[in-house]
Amino acid sequence: MTAGMRSRPLVHLVGAGPGDPELLTLKAVRAIRRATVLLVDDLVGAGVLRFARRSTRIVRVGKRGGCASTPQAFIERLMVAEALRGERVVRLKGGDPFVFGRGGEEAAHLRQLGLDVEVVNGITSGLAAASAIDVPLTHRDHAHGVMFLTGHARRDASDGALDWPALAAAAASGITVVVYMGIASVESLQAGLRTGLAAETPVAIVQDASLATQRHVLCRLDALAEVVVRDGFASPAIIVVGDVVRAGIALADRRQEVSARRAS
Ligand code: SAH
Repeated sequence: MTAGMRSRPLVHLVGAGPGDPELLTLKAVRAIRRATVLLVDDLVGAGVLRFARRSTRIVRVGKRGGCASTPQAFIERLMVAEALRGERVVRLKGGDPFVFGRGGEEAAHLRQLGLDVEVVNGITSGLAAASAIDVPLTHRDHAHGVMFLTGHARRDASDGALDWPALAAAAASGITVVVYMGIASVESLQAGLRTGLAAETPVAIVQDASLATQRHVLCRLDALAEVVVRDGFASPAIIVVGDVVRAGIALADRRQEVSARRAS
């Protein structure tokens, strides 16, 4: 549909990927280029914004856990007001808008208010973090599925906290666990996973995946919380748990061997 035929104002909910602008989708770049108003989460990499026009109004609406934040209601009001004024509004979110990004809530609210919403996928940080350290999230020898979990479950949610024994049992059956927002509550994460997983289960922590500041560490599950503190890991970070982490190390080792052989 062309803009002229559109009867209802449109807001784009766009995934900005993990940070590296090279990981944006073509659709995301096009939406960012067309935007006249950009509402930007604080996990959106700075490099992504260089696709915006000079004249575009950029509003930062970050709301990281524990920090000063823009209330969700304000963000939604602003999107509606700007779209109704005829602005081309793009809401840019880190990773994918529908993976732990409140994209579902925002889309529902905007539609309730009579706006059209178009969602543009982004590469979610859980995928990017694993690839960044050569860990395949599924592998025929190690894992036949993946779970994306939040380490920051809402205490007030009607379903309460995560059902760790059930999740850990699933993980033990060969499902890789990818944890978002897991650093602040890493001790309970470790204890929860230990209800079903062995102490020596391999774990990777990846901070700032895809950015120049990226770093990671590998450890055993029973050392996870200690390693986070010892090495000063901080948000944003992804924690990957499961035998695929070992497969990744093997891959990386082989690659190093190959490049060493080439060099000699
Ligand atoms: N919608 C986002 C997730 C938002 S929740 C996505 O799809 O990726 C915020 C969490 O995402 C952070 O606490 C962290 O766990 C993760 N995260 C986002 N960007 C990251 C990055 N570049 N490296 C590692 N983790 C990241």
